[in-house]
Amino acid sequence: MNGRAPMAATNPSWLGLVTRLCVCLLVWTIIPSEFARSGQTREIKRVLILHSFGRDFRPWGTYAKAIRENLEQLSPWQIDIQDHSMVSARSGDENPGPPFIAYLNALYSERPPDIVIAIGAPASNFVQQHRRHLFTQIPLILTAVEQRRIQFSDLPDSDTVIAVSHDFRLSFETILRVLPGTERIVVLNGTSPNEKFWLGELRKDAASVQKKVEFIRPNDISFQDFLKKSETLPPKTAIFWHLMNVDAIGVSYEGNTALQQLHAVSNAPLFSYDDGFFGNETVGGPMYSVLEISRLTAAVAIRILNGEKPRDIRLVAIKYSNPKFDWREMQRWDISERNLPPGSEVLFREPRIWEVNHWQLLLIATVILIQGALISGLLHERRRRRLAEVESRQRLTDLAHINRSSTVGELTISIAHELNQPLGSILTNTETAELMLKSPSPNLDEVKEILADIRRDDQRASEVIRRLRSVLKKTPFEITCIDLNETVRQVMGFIATVGSERNIALKCSTESIDLKIMGDVVHLQQVFLNLMINAMDAISEAEAIEREVSVTTRRSGAWAEVSISDTGPGIAIADLAKVFDPFFTTKPQGMGMGLAIVRSIVEAHHGQISAANQSPGGALFTLRLPILRDQATSV
Ligand code: ADP
Repeated sequence: MNGRAPMAATNPSWLGLVTRLCVCLLVWTIIPSEFARSGQTREIKRVLILHSFGRDFRPWGTYAKAIRENLEQLSPWQIDIQDHSMVSARSGDENPGPPFIAYLNALYSERPPDIVIAIGAPASNFVQQHRRHLFTQIPLILTAVEQRRIQFSDLPDSDTVIAVSHDFRLSFETILRVLPGTERIVVLNGTSPNEKFWLGELRKDAASVQKKVEFIRPNDISFQDFLKKSETLPPKTAIFWHLMNVDAIGVSYEGNTALQQLHAVSNAPLFSYDDGFFGNETVGGPMYSVLEISRLTAAVAIRILNGEKPRDIRLVAIKYSNPKFDWREMQRWDISERNLPPGSEVLFREPRIWEVNHWQLLLIATVILIQGALISGLLHERRRRRLAEVESRQRLTDLAHINRSSTVGELTISIAHELNQPLGSILTNTETAELMLKSPSPNLDEVKEILADIRRDDQRASEVIRRLRSVLKKTPFEITCIDLNETVRQVMGFIATVGSERNIALKCSTESIDLKIMGDVVHLQQVFLNLMINAMDAISEAEAIEREVSVTTRRSGAWAEVSISDTGPGIAIADLAKVFDPFFTTKPQGMGMGLAIVRSIVEAHHGQISAANQSPGGALFTLRLPILRDQATSV
């Protein structure tokens, strides 16, 4: 045990030693090379940017910002940017050149910058002027500077230029093109030495344009005074914004302030030549692209920092890029897209409601469409239903007429008997009257009485025929206001003879007040006729001892109720549910259509009908029809 324990302890220690050695080797070989590589990318390049007036003077402030961003993006090194501003550019009277140069040289004597970038003409002019004393061997890029402001002959090998080429004539012509009614172009320009230089150039270009181009001259007017003037410029005026770095009374305008103020109050549209002034205030036109020039500047700087000689990088002056216009300003000044130069780009278009709420509008449109389709479908259905209703009423009328004819057919004997009575009386009375008139002294009073009897019998016969005709007439379904009590009484009168012939008592008890309903009188007569005939049939077939048909009318809430009961055998329980079915009959000669027609007529009147058996025996049919609304509310 004792001898093996040290062995077990020794082996792992050897293994651990080897592992640790390997790890050390790896760390030794890999990590330093990684450090070296990262050290290479982390190398610092110092860039000195020389601004023309200050970091935020437009348009160069916009260039400086974009150059800085592009440098940081493109550079494989860490970029250390230092900014210095040419305050002396604001006034031509001062000459702070030598102290400024001394200051810069002193500041960078230990660690000079790797490259200098001068932005704009004032800065470029200054560096060119003092090049022999300022960062002599250090590469220099003069950028965003108009080619007329550069002494190309003085350019040393260490310097390169990214020049631009102004074309004010094109700018003026563009204004006249997009706003053809323009009669006056006011050119706004400041009083710094650089701005004064451009005044002459602007005048030259303006002279070649036919329309009047007016200049706000330096020393003439302060910018604040011009702001006031701009509120009431004559109609058909446009403003060409060149520069407003320093105004007539020596006030410097940094950042966006001046242009923003003018835009807020001016009654004329603003145009410019550089998209550093574009995006909120100016209408647009052919302009320099800040992005294009800044990107190029940054790319050239990287090439030089990479070892390329500035003298080998000679570029042609950059012209305006394709015209760009601000849609919002176009709307404000009523500029038609048709007037824009070919190839123009319109920016800042406000999305239309359709573009913003695309899905919501699509949804609403779909819902409206579906709703429209549903409505038209429902209307179509309603029309079809109405047609079907009209058709079914027509059928019902036809069927009801056939049913009435057959019912009346069954009553022929009774009707003939009913007619026979008055006709027989008429004959007898006529014969009696003739005999009386043949006598030598006829009793004329008696004859008169006989004639009165004849007249009465004739009226009775006519009444029977009239009733028969009224039942048999084929009329279209016609809704009128009727009294249900009256209709019941009419039918009772019609079948009175039938009842007495069959030895059946007909009892009628009507509600004391009128039961006004809306209905077709002929069809409702038929309903009661069918129910009463059925009741009499049931009594006759069963040869009941008690022979009575009772009709009762009453008002029950909003309903007029009619009950027809009989003393017959009633309806077999199994048949109760079937009695209203078409062709259901228990009679040998029956058709089984009477009750089916009755139910159809009642339902066409928005009513209900039911059949039941009474407890003492016999059937009970109850029908309810809606009472006329006026009557329903008045009671
Ligand atoms: P039909 O009179 O041609 O038979 P209906 O439709 O008028 O046709 O009547 C259908 C059936 O209903 C009758 O055959 C009969 O069986 C039954 N019925 C109708 N009314 C009564 C009633 N008052 N008592 C007993 N049964 C009746």
